[in-house]
Amino acid sequence: MNFTVTILGSNSAITNHGRNPTSQVITIGNHVFLMDCGEGTQQRMLQYKVKWFSIHHIFISHLHGDHYFGLIGLLTTYNLLKRTEPLTIFAPALLKDIIELQLKASATTINYELNFVATNDNDFYIVFENENVQICSFPLVHKIPTTGFLFKQKEGERKLLIEKLDGFDIDKNEYKLLKKSRYKRQKWQYNKSRRCY
Ligand SMILES: [Zn+2]
Repeated sequence: MNFTVTILGSNSAITNHGRNPTSQVITIGNHVFLMDCGEGTQQRMLQYKVKWFSIHHIFISHLHGDHYFGLIGLLTTYNLLKRTEPLTIFAPALLKDIIELQLKASATTINYELNFVATNDNDFYIVFENENVQICSFPLVHKIPTTGFLFKQKEGERKLLIEKLDGFDIDKNEYKLLKKSRYKRQKWQYNKSRRCY
């Protein structure tokens, strides 16, 4: 499965010639994730031929403007392009208020489902998981609350040679875990609080 990172921008707060404010596209299999959305992100998405409608999840690390000043533009562009699929934004809680105020001030109604999930910078948490990837947020030291995001590609299922299991005391119900390589690790890999290790 492909796992690629495209750097759309890597500059910091002040605009610089030839370098855009922060934004990255992470592609894992058919899933495309946007991480941070600085000013000019849409232009860079066009330049790099990013599949706009493959993005269903956006991750914002913190609320310094160079990491999200491009977001309201992207959200309203999706509206103009008649997006229908839901979009979820993982970000500090205050971003929801900021975006809603921007939409209110410009009398704009978003016609697709827009969800906000507040990140928490006090510990490690699993914020997203599907069959291919697990994404964890974790605290970073900065001037304002900030999280990093760790994208972990999951291992594929192993091929199980049933005849090799003769003589081992393994219940048939455990075969599925063996295929997923979790037979030994299942007890500590996850806990109920969804903390990420
Ligand atoms: Zn910052």
